[in-house]
Amino acid sequence: MKALTVRQPWAFAIAALGKSVENRTWNTHYRGLLAIHAGSRWDSDEAVRRVGELTGVTIVTTDTAAIVAVVDLVSVHNSATCIRPVEERHEHDDGPFTCSRWAIGSRVDNGMHHWVLGTRRQLAYPIACKGRQGLWDLPAYVEADVLAQISTTAGLRYGSPSDLINPEETP
Ligand SMILES: [Zn+2]
Repeated sequence: MKALTVRQPWAFAIAALGKSVENRTWNTHYRGLLAIHAGSRWDSDEAVRRVGELTGVTIVTTDTAAIVAVVDLVSVHNSATCIRPVEERHEHDDGPFTCSRWAIGSRVDNGMHHWVLGTRRQLAYPIACKGRQGLWDLPAYVEADVLAQISTTAGLRYGSPSDLINPEETP
């Protein structure tokens, strides 16, 4: 299974707060199960403030240096070609062209790739693990533990991306 290291609080936002798009400056052709690894270092205070603004949740502490979730990477598009689905036209502060309120970038700079995350499963028991850059392969023993958790626990806590674009329905 491939893995992606994401700094907190974003990893927690993916695992538990409905973050349905991961913003990256680089593209990937990989699709399928993707383990979300919470990096050992946190992003800025501004990131924490932003998550609070989007979810109403103030994250004070959460797991780091561990696999915290498994998602389905369903598609990737450039912010320059990002178009909000017709059924999600209600107003929010990302402007009219983003696929999710979590998406960033612009229509003109080609600068960001939106990795669309489908089903997201928060691991009941985060698995300590060292992170890496880019897409990386989980060590076999970690993958076995991840697969065991997602097959035996009620890890399926949040559904498809569409239920997360609507802020009113975000848990
Ligand atoms: Zn988009």
